[in-house]
Amino acid sequence: MKKAYKLFYKWYEKNGRHDLPWRLSSDPYRIWVSEIMLQQTQVKTVLARFYFPFLKAFPSLETLANASEDEVLKMWEGLGYYTRARNLHKSAKLCASVLPQSVHELTALPGIGRSTAHAIAAFAYKTPLPIMDANVKRILCRFYGLKKAGEKLLWEKAYDFFDAEHPYDFNQAIMDLGASVCMAKAALCHECPFASLCMAVDDPLAYPQKKVKKSTPVRRKQIVIHRHQGRFALKQRDTRFLNGLWGFSEYEQSDAITTTQKLGEIVQVYSHFRLEAEVYLRQAHIEEHEWFTLEEINKLALSRADHKALALLDMSEK
Ligand code: SF4
Repeated sequence: MKKAYKLFYKWYEKNGRHDLPWRLSSDPYRIWVSEIMLQQTQVKTVLARFYFPFLKAFPSLETLANASEDEVLKMWEGLGYYTRARNLHKSAKLCASVLPQSVHELTALPGIGRSTAHAIAAFAYKTPLPIMDANVKRILCRFYGLKKAGEKLLWEKAYDFFDAEHPYDFNQAIMDLGASVCMAKAALCHECPFASLCMAVDDPLAYPQKKVKKSTPVRRKQIVIHRHQGRFALKQRDTRFLNGLWGFSEYEQSDAITTTQKLGEIVQVYSHFRLEAEVYLRQAHIEEHEWFTLEEINKLALSRADHKALALLDMSEK
């Protein structure tokens, strides 16, 4: 394996993503924010729209801890999986200005599981521990020829594969290898430093075995925008999904829409369902909502579907 590691670091030196901003920082807070954002989002999306504005708004653990949940959600708007933002905020409050170093303490914080704790410990504090993300899982399955592997086996293999002599470089390099060589839909084995030892080299895409994809269910709804005296009715969600985000009234089947003006239709694809909604404007007052001007709505954190409904409203007003 020593020879393969040598080739690996040579490959990394030449091809690694050395300029990722969280790799150029030694601030645990910045590294932590990047790890949480990257949990379910691609590097390019995080870099293009979210990482820098978020850090500009909350440059330190203290500023994040002192912000309101609405402010945090507004900066997370569009990134999805909003539980991440709420947990990040809760953790900042619990940390009392210092992010803990040990995996044990890190996993005690909301939203930090073993994989994220290892990544934070490894990258923010240079603790010699293996990391585990989708790229690493795929490489391990292919390298060890595993069609299926549970978490326990994967962690065992992660420790076997890990180079404890160069832990920091190893972890950065393994992610880059997964992102550009041992990819989900293609494996460039001829460029891979581990090709001579890899069990999957003859048929890499067979590992790990693909799960049969279920078709995405469709939910049909009606979004009704209520207007009364120049203000619009919104409610802050207290449901698990999109918790904390503001939204217009939603109905499975609205009896109220007979007295409304249809603004259009929207489609929003979420990870577990596809929302197809008709959007209506209704001139009426309703209870149990808060009322905002358009200017005020723009300062609230809304779901993508509500943003699309708002855009239809904007168009209808022009
Ligand atoms: S040899 Fe191919 S399948 Fe094996 S780790 Fe490298 S890129 Fe992946």
